[in-house]
Amino acid sequence: MTDIGFIGLGNMGGPMAKNLVGAGHKVKGFDLGSAALETAKSNGVETVTSATDVLQGSGAVVTMLPAGEHVRSVYLGEEGLIAQAEPNTLFIDSSTIDVTSCREVHDAAAAAGHLMLDAPVSGGVAGADGGTLTFMVGGSDDAFARGEALFEIMGRNIVHAGGAGNGQVAKVCNNMILGISMLAISEAFTLGETLGLAPEKLQEISSTSSGSCWAMLNHNPVPGLVETAAANRDYKPGFAAFMMQKDLRLAQAAAHQAGVPTPLGAEAAALYTMFVKSGRGDLDYSAIIKMLQET
Ligand code: NAD
Repeated sequence: MTDIGFIGLGNMGGPMAKNLVGAGHKVKGFDLGSAALETAKSNGVETVTSATDVLQGSGAVVTMLPAGEHVRSVYLGEEGLIAQAEPNTLFIDSSTIDVTSCREVHDAAAAAGHLMLDAPVSGGVAGADGGTLTFMVGGSDDAFARGEALFEIMGRNIVHAGGAGNGQVAKVCNNMILGISMLAISEAFTLGETLGLAPEKLQEISSTSSGSCWAMLNHNPVPGLVETAAANRDYKPGFAAFMMQKDLRLAQAAAHQAGVPTPLGAEAAALYTMFVKSGRGDLDYSAIIKMLQET
């Protein structure tokens, strides 16, 4: 069984590494935070004292880091993973990062004779813990064939989205749809109620009509309409608003880079930024309805 290196043992990476250990892999882990290292150790991860130490004996390395700058700093440069690894190492970056950094790291890995996959996830901490994440994977067929067994341990839905960076593209496009949908639902339910239409009636009608969408059926921002919604738990996340803001900003960066106008995506990014700046970034992303109701 392949020994695995794991860097970034936080809210997501910690449980993902734990599941790899549970499936019988020897996992060497590193994180800058001592609390994350301690937890990983108690979950059977062999902790090491630098990022490149995870490389020893590891045929594959998974990274789960906050943003593009962290990923670049860990992978690139003379002291980075790519320069220090044995040829033909498989790298899997599951962080959600900008497409440009992602493709730069892919190129560097390929030039050094390694295989690389970008494999951002959805499903949150519960999905990481339960091994039920969705992986959106970009990279070559060869790399995907080598990584697939690991994804199956950590996730349930695994989609090979195409070449380098396509996992990140899928992630930001999907979450741009989700953010815009949530704003549309929030506006419509607020307008309906203000005009005298009970939210229960609008849900009954729209959820089976042309206005229906995943966010309405699963995360409706009005309390009491959908059992699974964070609205019923004082908007405790779920999917935090600051993470939606991050993903919408990544979508905007990708759209600017590609020269593709995304006016609704831009407006959604601006509204979520306003919401986070109001001090409510830790609430679920559906709580944005409160801000719309205030204005
Ligand atoms: P987190 O902050 O809990 O964990 C990130 C970890 O990386 C931290 O423990 C930090 O100490 C470590 N780290 C940072 N720089 C490092 C370095 N140079 N070397 C070693 N360790 C380093 O974040 P998270 O919630 O686990 O999210 C990780 C990634 O997953 C992010 O890109 C996020 O957007 C994405 N994501 C998160 C969720 C979620 O619900 N939390 C859902 C989907 C995707």
